Amino acid sequence: MTLRRCRDHVSRQRPAAALQLTRTAEVHPPHRGIDSMFSVSWRRTRLRIGATLAMTVAVVATSFLPQPAYATTYDRGMALPSFAVKPYDYNSQWQGPMDRALSSWNVTPTPVWITKSSSAPNVIVAAQYPGVTWFGLYTPHGSKPGRYFDIKLNSLTIGTATYYFDRFVTQVLVHELGHSLSLVDNPATSQRSIMTYGLDHSLYYVPQQYDINDVNNYYG
Ligand SMILES: [Zn+2]
Repeated sequence: MTLRRCRDHVSRQRPAAALQLTRTAEVHPPHRGIDSMFSVSWRRTRLRIGATLAMTVAVVATSFLPQPAYATTYDRGMALPSFAVKPYDYNSQWQGPMDRALSSWNVTPTPVWITKSSSAPNVIVAAQYPGVTWFGLYTPHGSKPGRYFDIKLNSLTIGTATYYFDRFVTQVLVHELGHSLSLVDNPATSQRSIMTYGLDHSLYYVPQQYDINDVNNYYG
């Protein structure tokens, strides 16, 4: 269910290789602007019927399917909430906001403790990934307890942010790290969560109380 939801939020024109990738990965969703676009399309389809629009409806309808109540955690996260990532080195536009994502998890009242170590198997990369619509991509490798992950941040899509770019970088990485901490996309709750698609990054870019509770429930 979760993986299918993620695929629903990426472009239908994506190449086969990318589709293959998302079967083992979690993508960060399009931001508010694209969600709004889907909503507009949804309203239009009530007035017009066409093959293209029908496809859009399928995307929208699936996006709003209710999730079972138990689907609040994700079984492809890390075995423990304390782990290291390999050090990364980017320009100040990225480095600070990325570091803030790590520290914003570390200051939560949870067992989360994310450090940097050159020997860490976990990798966070910010780069240009053309031809895709995702902002961030979490990919787990191996199985517990030896699981490790890589997180990709797509500078091409994140760079489209027209305001509070730094907060958008942080939000995307906090979200992807949420997957490493066993949090699922769009948890079945009305409470605010960093894992919810379409969250305004200018306001919400650090772990929310719901996320803190979920992590404590899972690892506590
Ligand atoms: Zn996600």
